Amino acid sequence: MPAAIIDGVASAQRLRAEIAAQVSARPAGLRPPGLAVVLVGSDPASQVYVRSKGIATRKAGMVSVERHLPATTSQGELIDLVASLNADPEIDGILVQLPLPPQIDAAAVLAAIDPDKDVDGFHALNVGRLWSGEPSLVPCTPKGCMKLIGEAVETTSGLNAVVIGRSGIVGKPMAALLLAANCTVTIAHSRTRDLRRVCRDADILVAAVGAPGMVRGDFIKPGATVIDVGINRVTSADGATRLVGDVAFEEALEVAGAITPVPGGVGPMTIACLLDNTLTAYRRRVGV
Ligand code: NAP
Repeated sequence: MPAAIIDGVASAQRLRAEIAAQVSARPAGLRPPGLAVVLVGSDPASQVYVRSKGIATRKAGMVSVERHLPATTSQGELIDLVASLNADPEIDGILVQLPLPPQIDAAAVLAAIDPDKDVDGFHALNVGRLWSGEPSLVPCTPKGCMKLIGEAVETTSGLNAVVIGRSGIVGKPMAALLLAANCTVTIAHSRTRDLRRVCRDADILVAAVGAPGMVRGDFIKPGATVIDVGINRVTSADGATRLVGDVAFEEALEVAGAITPVPGGVGPMTIACLLDNTLTAYRRRVGV
């Protein structure tokens, strides 16, 4: 029997509707949550992401503040803007769109964001809180993956989970969340020996590499839940481009128990979880 398809579009729609309902049910007279997104330069993919975040924020009934700065912006100027957003009482979440131009040290900018407004969950304090099991703002993509895993798996406790990729954005926080959910977690990366064998132990396999179709059907344990985080643009012989994941989808479909498609799996959950984090930050700040 082919794997069940985990529908990220439908899950994201449900989550966004729940968030919008909670925003509109806030106590009378209380301001709505506010999310500021900062874009430096004019990278076309980043422009698309920022635009879709703005639309989703407004649709949820939140206030969206977009700040566009020129590619020549200095690190000091960007940090000054972050400081003014930190001090703005009507802003609950701050997201600085990555990547940043080469003259700016992204780590320094992320460190300047108030951890309580760090809706990307990249600030060192939130990373530490996540690994310590304290309440934190959790990076949006792994948070979305956990919600999708929750739809496919009755209980995660005791399952073997393998995460391929160890970035701070996806792989490491994903591993922390799976560990917190009582999985036995392995993090694989470019130096891992015999990746196929490591992956075949996984009841939950998360691929976050950026290599089209690298996870083949024979990497997958029969019945496993496969979460494909990869977003890769490939060009076919006729010149057309399309998005594919890190998992060879057709092969995986024959072996896995459940799998996320690309597109339409993890991607839509990321923005929904950004709104979820903004709502969490807002509630903590206004005390509701
Ligand atoms: P990244 O920072 O480039 O990290 C990639 C990871 O993959 C690294 O840890 C790397 O290992 C590992 N890797 C590379 N080649 C490998 C191999 N042959 N075998 C095993 N591991 C290998 O990428 P990222 O930011 O985590 O993103 C990963 C993918 O997810 C990309 O396609 C990205 O576009 C996508 N993404 C999607 C969303 C979404 O919303 N759906 C969000 C974020 C990212 P080393 O550490 O050893 O180099």
